[in-house]
Amino acid sequence: MVNNGHTIQADVANGGVIEVDGVPYTLVQFHFHAPSEHTVGGKRFAMETHFVHKSAKGELAVIGVLHEAGDANEALAPLWSALPNTTEEKKPLAKFDLASVLPADRSMYRYAGSLTTPPCTEGVRWQLLQSPTSVSDAQVKALNAIIKPNARPIQPQKARDVLKEALAKLTANR
Ligand SMILES: [Zn+2]
Repeated sequence: MVNNGHTIQADVANGGVIEVDGVPYTLVQFHFHAPSEHTVGGKRFAMETHFVHKSAKGELAVIGVLHEAGDANEALAPLWSALPNTTEEKKPLAKFDLASVLPADRSMYRYAGSLTTPPCTEGVRWQLLQSPTSVSDAQVKALNAIIKPNARPIQPQKARDVLKEALAKLTANR
């Protein structure tokens, strides 16, 4: 896990594979935003996790998980006990059950967008899970103590279609 000054990011080797429109994308890293970057019906959530996947051609697909303020997120607790405080610091990624970070209901919003941090590359396939999982106030504060609130301002929807689907392929790969 690294602290790149913008977020806490876990780089993953041999990450899982998702299939989007018939194309396989391999998990390369995941990172956190507090508060959430996405809003649903105008509502912002306490935190959001982005699982960034890359295809053989280098195209990106991201799965976003929203975290609602409430109980501590037990799945993330092992990571939170070893957050890298400074940009010089690297911490080994604690063993944890990645799938348990995801909500049981895998319904999602899908749209074509961009990366939310520079270079804000376009053509990113976004899958935002509709059901949030929890995060405690203490967990959000621990993240924001290291990384200042890091949500990109809300962007106009423009001509983007937002589709609702179920994340069937990911479930099959659990
Ligand atoms: Zn992100």
